[in-house]
Amino acid sequence: MADGILYRRVALIGIGLIGASLAHALRQHGLAGHITACARTEATLATARRLDLCDAATLDPAAAVADADLVVLCTPLGAYPDLVRAMAPALAPGATLSDVGSVKQSVIRELGPLVPDGVHLIPGHPVAGTEHSGPEAGFAELFEGRYCVLTPPPGTDEAALARLSEMWRRCGMTVETMAAEHHDLVLAITSHLPHLIAYTIVGTATDLEVHLKAEVAKFSAGGFRDFTRIASSDPVMWRDVFLNNKEAVLEVLGCFSEDLAALQRAIRWGEGDKLEALFRRTREIRREVIDAKQA
Ligand code: NAP
Repeated sequence: MADGILYRRVALIGIGLIGASLAHALRQHGLAGHITACARTEATLATARRLDLCDAATLDPAAAVADADLVVLCTPLGAYPDLVRAMAPALAPGATLSDVGSVKQSVIRELGPLVPDGVHLIPGHPVAGTEHSGPEAGFAELFEGRYCVLTPPPGTDEAALARLSEMWRRCGMTVETMAAEHHDLVLAITSHLPHLIAYTIVGTATDLEVHLKAEVAKFSAGGFRDFTRIASSDPVMWRDVFLNNKEAVLEVLGCFSEDLAALQRAIRWGEGDKLEALFRRTREIRREVIDAKQA
């Protein structure tokens, strides 16, 4: 595909961490002729304008998508159905409707029936993020060197898929295409379960008695502080991730609970060799993550 503009008019529905990062990247790499930002509040749109993330800004999703050849949903997953219901009559035939949500099967299941004929629904997930939210948190380099997963439903238009893949590639990502079900299981292990564990540990510490609580913050460098970073991620976004990826999360949580119980038993019975063998194995995984340049 030749260099230059990939989409004439892009509508970003939601302009927080991911939407703003995409806006920065589209601008930096010259991929969009015109960007419209849509959010729920005037304050967010004012910030988007101030940061020059968009050429136009509106609270109305239907107005945002009119005449757009690419629409990307960048809100928490729970907001998608109402937004797509509102924008559906205004979506242009031939347009691509994508998203950046952390769960993919529910997007196809819930949005598929709402998307008008002639509009290409191609769900996506740039696997890149931070614990920060809002338009000020966005930066173009967020996507560089990371993976983007696209989960086109069967029968997806090849040209529309190639164009969207090219957009994420030019934002610096390696693009992989896979079934939505597979994405949801892999991400349940690599992202959703770690967040659930972090939320649990920090929650447990918060419930400790007052005199212990002070010590938790003081001695957090012992490991706890890394969990507090993850557990400070946006509550609404993560609520929606767990509600939308229920089956896969429950499946990996079942495996995790069994493995935790086995560790509990090894500690109780003084089985040091078992503990050491696991810790050696997991150290190898860290090396693999570093080798894959995802550390
Ligand atoms: P965020 O920083 O909290 O931003 C969310 C944006 O969505 C805000 O601009 C918000 O507008 C807007 N919004 C929320 N509800 C809306 C509604 N009903 N109508 C219109 N706009 C609405 O969130 P984020 O971290 O960018 O996450 C967005 C999506 O990216 C989520 O689906 C998440 O699963 C996915 N994702 C996140 C990460 C990550 O690390 N954060 C990584 C990969 C993918 P207001 O400010 O006006 O409320």
